[in-house]
Amino acid sequence: MDSTRDTLGPKRDMKMDAELTDDLRLIPRWAIAGALAAFALTEYYFWVIVPQHRHNPSPLPTALRFYLLISWGALASLYVLMIGYISNDAPRRGMSTRLWMVCVVMPGGIGAVLYFLLRQPILSSCPSCGTHIDGSYHYCPQCSYQVTACCGNCYRTARITDLYCVHCGHDLAADHPPARLQAFSR
Ligand SMILES: [Zn+2]
Ligand SMILES: [Zn+2]
Repeated sequence: MDSTRDTLGPKRDMKMDAELTDDLRLIPRWAIAGALAAFALTEYYFWVIVPQHRHNPSPLPTALRFYLLISWGALASLYVLMIGYISNDAPRRGMSTRLWMVCVVMPGGIGAVLYFLLRQPILSSCPSCGTHIDGSYHYCPQCSYQVTACCGNCYRTARITDLYCVHCGHDLAADHPPARLQAFSR
């Protein structure tokens, strides 16, 4: 049992890393540029504009002031990154991009929290008939095209690199690989 867990551990970490990288790739360049600009503008505002209009020096110690102002800048750039991410993430989930981008701009970050609570699973389309399919489907509901490799014994998801089912130990090669890998032979 322990050896199974050991061999699965790193693979699972790699999969999570890959998902994170894919998610980060969704952030468009304009959002990264916008985030840098937002950070610079926020810092400029607090370090240059505000002191000019204040006659007595800030009562906060310098270190705390520095920490607070860096945090405000980081928050401003995070907002821009989030908007960029949602502009690419909402369409692939069949959600209204404009509505959600407006919601996320709402102050307090409530829109962003709602977005991540309410977002729909990623949609993709069937390579054979173009029907929208949920990421969890193994077969297209309209034409029965196999979209994900799955075990021929327990019908749970298998990866194309697996030789045996990770759930039931079934020998995947016995499932007639060409049919099992139909979705990947395009
Ligand atoms: Zn189909
Ligand atoms: Zn199985």
